Amino acid sequence: MALRNIVTEEDPVLRKKSRQVTEVNDRIRTILDDMAETMHAAYGVGLAAPQVGILRRMFVVQVDDEHLYELINPEIVEADGDQYGEEGCLSVPGYVGLVHRPEHVKIRGLDRNGKPVEYEGEGLLARAFMHEYDHLDGIIYTDKADNVHLPKDDE
Ligand code: ZN
Repeated sequence: MALRNIVTEEDPVLRKKSRQVTEVNDRIRTILDDMAETMHAAYGVGLAAPQVGILRRMFVVQVDDEHLYELINPEIVEADGDQYGEEGCLSVPGYVGLVHRPEHVKIRGLDRNGKPVEYEGEGLLARAFMHEYDHLDGIIYTDKADNVHLPKDDE
């Protein structure tokens, strides 16, 4: 495994639409491993492939100690409810902003072995799924956020 460089918002790669993964092979698994390691090292809760300069539809999410989600070619199959809360992005270091997201999301895709998987998320997990999914279409949370700012030290 290896740490990858996380690109920041000025990089045009973050504005491109990622392509489907056509074959889930060792190369893809290596990228997923590197992405998870990179996310953990940066204390993030999610990382999408374009953030490490790879325009393929896949991301990793981990919001607790329990489960690392790895999704390839994800599709949102259900999204309902509304939550409005603070969000940040490893590609926009330091900043936070307020974003509306669905409270509950059902997402489908392939796992690291190319097998179909479906996950449900609420709260922070739903937020992370939607945020990472947006990266695959070239969308950064700041496009949707109110009051993007540097948090004060006393917050
Ligand atoms: Zn992000």
